Amino acid sequence: MLDRSTIWPYEDGEPGEFYYQRYGHPAGVEAERALGELEGGQALLFPSGSGAITALLLALLEPGKTVALTQDAYYGTPVLMKMLGRWGLQVVEFDQTGSPPEGADLVWVEAPSNPLLSMPDMEAAAAHPAPLVVDSTAATPVHLRPLELGADFVLHSATKFLGGHHDVLLGAVVSKAPEDHERLLEFRTRSGIVASPDAAWLLVRSLKTLRVRMGRITANAQEVARRLEAHSAVERVRYPGFGGLMSFDVAGGGEAARRVETSTRLIKNATSLGGVNSVLETRARWEGGRVPDNLVRLSVGLEEVDELWADLEQALSG
Ligand SMILES: *Cc1c(COP(=O)(O)O)cnc(C)c1O
Repeated sequence: MLDRSTIWPYEDGEPGEFYYQRYGHPAGVEAERALGELEGGQALLFPSGSGAITALLLALLEPGKTVALTQDAYYGTPVLMKMLGRWGLQVVEFDQTGSPPEGADLVWVEAPSNPLLSMPDMEAAAAHPAPLVVDSTAATPVHLRPLELGADFVLHSATKFLGGHHDVLLGAVVSKAPEDHERLLEFRTRSGIVASPDAAWLLVRSLKTLRVRMGRITANAQEVARRLEAHSAVERVRYPGFGGLMSFDVAGGGEAARRVETSTRLIKNATSLGGVNSVLETRARWEGGRVPDNLVRLSVGLEEVDELWADLEQALSG
């Protein structure tokens, strides 16, 4: 049962496992145990993926330190990091299919990147002396376990596939080293960047179906990617072969892409990704010149693949 208490009575005059919600609460601990097991490390929840990024940067770094960030990271990540420039954080961008730049104090890659779907060279990233963060939001531990490939931290926007139902905003960091976990936990407790019991409880629910959801989502997405590749109105498809996130470029430019996104019926024209229902949107509306103006990002859900394809086909032929 979901326990929303902010306090729990002391036991024999001393704090027990739970005593004040900011330090920890039962649903949070349960969700963190489940996610930690899936990733092979120790997980901590945050109120959003962005909150998790903020906490990790502030807990690990200090003014004058430099993050090497993949140039095609989720667009909110560089926006946030540059905002923290006022507190002395420096950012250099690099191509994650090659080696991170020397001298960086933290290396930050995304597997696969959203929405350009590049995969990091994990060997090169792990060989860099700085700690390595892998934003594994689009892969999930079903398809990738970065801690086994040399990462020190795995970051998730659990709002996406982990939450999986477009009904919870949540983030997580999974640490490999116990001392990193402790440091981040202490920062989280003191800063108060803490996820609520309700959100954690929804994640517990969602993780029970993660493996079956990702299995079906991947099977659907592989088939949709194959059919898009063969469609004459599609110039290019980006899909890493697993997971539900892909993007494709529509022949005829930005106008044509706008027509496609407003013509689907089953697939909703909405932002975000990772839910049981498929969504799609052009990304230039948010990211400007960072992405082609005819790029449509598609997050494939659990619908019947033939129904998904029928919807895309009628939208592409419009
Ligand atoms: C959505 C997203 C984020 C940000 O997460 P929020 O939960 O929206 O704050 C970070 N990284 C990636 C790859 C994302 O897709």
